[in-house]
Amino acid sequence: MQSEIDVLKQFIGESSYIIFFGGAGVSTESGIPDFRSVDGLYNQKYKYPPETILSHNFFMSNTADFYEFYRAKMLCTDAQPNPAHIKLAELEKRGKLKAVITQNIDGLHQKAGSEAVLELHGSIHRNFCMACKASFDVDAVKGHTGVPCCNCGGVVKPDVVLFGEQLNDGVISEAISHIRKADMLIIGGTSLGVYPAAGLINYYKGNKLVLINKSQTPVDGSADLVINGSIGKVLNEVVL
Ligand code: ZN
Repeated sequence: MQSEIDVLKQFIGESSYIIFFGGAGVSTESGIPDFRSVDGLYNQKYKYPPETILSHNFFMSNTADFYEFYRAKMLCTDAQPNPAHIKLAELEKRGKLKAVITQNIDGLHQKAGSEAVLELHGSIHRNFCMACKASFDVDAVKGHTGVPCCNCGGVVKPDVVLFGEQLNDGVISEAISHIRKADMLIIGGTSLGVYPAAGLINYYKGNKLVLINKSQTPVDGSADLVINGSIGKVLNEVVL
């Protein structure tokens, strides 16, 4: 592992436009469950599978049941940034890292101090009224039971991309633009099996593609450096 860490340090030293692309593994190290993984929520017992509950159709038809699950399992507002979040925020402050692209919705990168964060799947911290588009913070959803409603009577919906919903085009374009410009792309905590991760990395044209993941991924063969390990532990080894 040490020789790989040394290469990682060397790559970072040589780079001035680093982009980090992170998956659920970045958040699981802060104790947030990954609802796509075998060890995650799918193994737990609910009346409906999480993928059903977290879908657009379920939200529209069973809004109260959606919120019961969402408050219990998705609103991890007590979670704290781990060494991966902290190191990435430091890299941004030093001008090395230009953006974090994340599939997570927990806001932990911002909590760690990162400013340029592209949230492909939205954020639990943003909510809006489906009728008048008024905005609400997470407390408006968290501190209540039942379906949160706006003063206008409209239902409040989290700004989170549910199954069956489209990703935000503006966020995707910005992510692609950053990846195209990147001289180093670090991908962490994702097995790259899920859209749009696998497609986005095709826009990278540099020669420092780094994969940090506990298990192998389908693109290990095309990476310039593969480190199998905890994203937090690995990034923590990088001394700036
Ligand atoms: Zn409203």
